[in-house]
Amino acid sequence: MTDFIVSARKYRPSSFNAVVGQSSIVLTLKNAIQSNLLAQSFLFCGPRGVGKTSCARILAKTINCFNISSDNEACNECESCLSFNKNTSFNIHELDAASNNSVDDIRNLVEQVRFSPQVGKYNIYIIDEVHMLSTSAFNAFLKTLEEPPSHAKFILATTEKNKIIPTILSRCQIFDFKRLSISNIASHLSYVAEHENINADTEALHLIAQKADGALRDALSFFDRLVSFSNKNLTYKSVIKHLNILDYDYYFRITDCLLENDINQILISYNEILENGFDGHHFINGLASHFRDILVSMNEKTSTLFEKGDVLKSRYIQQSSKCNLNFILSALSICNECDVQYKTTNNQRLLVEFTLMRISSIETTNSQKKKSKNFVISSHKSKNDISIKNTDEKVNVMELTSDLKKPDKISQKSSLDQSLIQNKTTENTEIILDVNKKTTLISINSLTEESNIDKSSEKIVSNLRSSELSYQSLILHWKTLISFVKDQGKSNLAIALSLHEPRLLKNNVIELSLSNAAQTEIILEEKYKILEYLRNKLTNDHIEIITKVIEGEKSATPYTNKDKFNKMLENNSSLDSLRLSLGLDSDY
Ligand SMILES: [Zn+2]
Repeated sequence: MTDFIVSARKYRPSSFNAVVGQSSIVLTLKNAIQSNLLAQSFLFCGPRGVGKTSCARILAKTINCFNISSDNEACNECESCLSFNKNTSFNIHELDAASNNSVDDIRNLVEQVRFSPQVGKYNIYIIDEVHMLSTSAFNAFLKTLEEPPSHAKFILATTEKNKIIPTILSRCQIFDFKRLSISNIASHLSYVAEHENINADTEALHLIAQKADGALRDALSFFDRLVSFSNKNLTYKSVIKHLNILDYDYYFRITDCLLENDINQILISYNEILENGFDGHHFINGLASHFRDILVSMNEKTSTLFEKGDVLKSRYIQQSSKCNLNFILSALSICNECDVQYKTTNNQRLLVEFTLMRISSIETTNSQKKKSKNFVISSHKSKNDISIKNTDEKVNVMELTSDLKKPDKISQKSSLDQSLIQNKTTENTEIILDVNKKTTLISINSLTEESNIDKSSEKIVSNLRSSELSYQSLILHWKTLISFVKDQGKSNLAIALSLHEPRLLKNNVIELSLSNAAQTEIILEEKYKILEYLRNKLTNDHIEIITKVIEGEKSATPYTNKDKFNKMLENNSSLDSLRLSLGLDSDY
């Protein structure tokens, strides 16, 4: 039985032409060899596993070869080449600075520099992970690097160019190695598979390449592992299973459901994904990449940017025919928002579910009228336990009427958010007309200021929620808002919010009185979040907040939450039953 050699070593390139995916660097090095204009020192930068050390060794071998070919490759036959290939050459000295970074290590190396090579022209010193050298080691090395003997060549390699001090940078010819493309890696894997007599699906190899994130060495080590698991038969399924990759099938299925607004199925699929041990953040980013791939599949010109196998490609093209550009752009933008908020949110699962619902409510003009699925987001019991339930009788998803699509209304709609306060014309009442009082609207496309796509593309017709705003419901959610910000540790904000009771003005404008300008600033800083919270809780996207400073005025409003609640109770006795139904403490 022969010893197993890992593929990364066995298939390490031994000539420039065998180097995968670094053609411009190879060309530059070859040209330098041909014109005999080799620098004294080289700095190879780039991510791990992309061929830096391999290139350094090939360069070392080639410049010592006695019969360099017309193609500027080593002959692999002369004495020097043979000793290089057997790893017995004395012309090459490698130091891994990650583990040997002391002054003594570098002194040992520097001492050898003055000896001229016995065979061949050059001694080559390769220092890997050179950024790991200690400062004193760097300094000890600098002198040698400044005035090296002509027979010495230095090749420094690093994954972190930014950590290399300028004095070193200025003395080296710098080569930036790039991350390998998925197709580059996949085709190399397929070459290895062929030579090893391994059966491998193209899709399976693309998955491995994708997982390796541009590093060929990682791809080869995944490949070795999978070959041993799967008994020399690499299938898409076996790779999915062993590499713990989220199956594309999920993305295709969920996208279909999103297009059909089938929220039930979306939530079930997402639950399945979580139960299989995948992380929500990972999923949302995967979904965004899926949309990106649909986007590039829409057009023949961009389909070259698609980096997956041919079988998948046809599936993507098929799905892209069901989507339109607006859907994809809005979906990408919503995914991006989720990605940004994911780490800071309290309820990550809800955030992802909410994101999926927002995507599913994007208007797709291609598709037929969306099926209405009945849904409501309700919060109950404890503040953190927010669940989504399906209540057929109460709720229906509201679609904005075609009125909105009239051009004048659209432009009005997109500026609605900002102009609401100033613009006292009652145009927006038209939008509210269709609202059934009991309706809770789930179709959301928030008019976020930072969402450029929403702003620039007026064609995207968003659904604005506009449930009727009552003083009671405002006060109720104002209180949950206060405890929400308290939970987030924003006590100053909580105080500013609880000093005075908000007033409900016309046109969904809430007026909040404050005691001083500092409080106004606190509110303004968080205004967007406050609005988002209230708009979601009260299912009304027209809500705006204005502030007013009452200087020197002592508020007659009860100070503690409990007192406030009791005072409200005097006006409306049904509040207590509401409180109970929400499972809230009376003194919260
Ligand atoms: Zn040779």
